[in-house]
Amino acid sequence: MKSKVTACPICKSNHMYLKHEASYVYSYVLDSDAPGMKNTEIFSPFLYDRRDQTSSCEYVECDNCKTRFTTDLLYGALNTDHNDISDRFK
Ligand SMILES: [Zn+2]
Repeated sequence: MKSKVTACPICKSNHMYLKHEASYVYSYVLDSDAPGMKNTEIFSPFLYDRRDQTSSCEYVECDNCKTRFTTDLLYGALNTDHNDISDRFK
């Protein structure tokens, strides 16, 4: 893996993150003890019976100025030999 860090085209910060944002509905079967077939004594939210993803999105966010970019920009930058994605804005 290359050690170069992609810089923000707006503020030039190199604290960039790819963020995956998702929403899920967790379902627990109502049985004779605590809700959820895997729960017995107490209800533990992570011991679910079913998980359905309702939405998700990915974006690149600058940790400094909080500007969000589409992932197209990230993958475009990764597929070139440019050292800095700001080259794409010149
Ligand atoms: Zn920035």
